[in-house]
Amino acid sequence: MTDDEFDDMDRIREHFARPGAAARETAEYLAARREAARRASRPPPLDIVPAPEFPRFGVARYSCPRRCGWWHDEPTDPGPTRLILPTKPGADPEASRLADLVDLDEPGAAISLDSESRLLALRSRVAAAIEEHYARAH
Ligand SMILES: [Zn+2]
Repeated sequence: MTDDEFDDMDRIREHFARPGAAARETAEYLAARREAARRASRPPPLDIVPAPEFPRFGVARYSCPRRCGWWHDEPTDPGPTRLILPTKPGADPEASRLADLVDLDEPGAAISLDSESRLLALRSRVAAAIEEHYARAH
C-alpha cells in the first residue's frame, strides 16, 4: 500500500469509529448531492471503462478496448457492505430509539449512495488497470 492508501484507510476507520458523526456526514453529503443534482444540467462524462463480459459465474471481465487479448477481472459480488443511514435534521445523537435518530425518509437515498460509491470504486479500479495496461502494451 502507498502512503495515500494508508491515509485513506485511516480516514475510513475514523469514519466508522464515530457512527453518529458518520450518519451526520451521510445526511450532509446526501443534501449536497441533491442540491448538485438539482443544479446539474449535463450528463456525467463518458470514461474508458468498457462493458464487461461474464466468462463464468462470479466474474466480470473487462477486455482491452483494442482487443489485444489482455483483460482485467473483477468479482461480481464484492461482499457485504456497511450501510450508514443519515440522521434526522436536528436529531439528538443520544436518542435511544432508532426511529428518533435516523431519517427513515432517506434509506433509499443512503442505499443509492452506497451503491454509487461501490460502482465508482469499481470503475476506478478498472480504469486504473486499463491505463496501466495501455502504458505498458500500447
Ligand atoms: Zn491491449
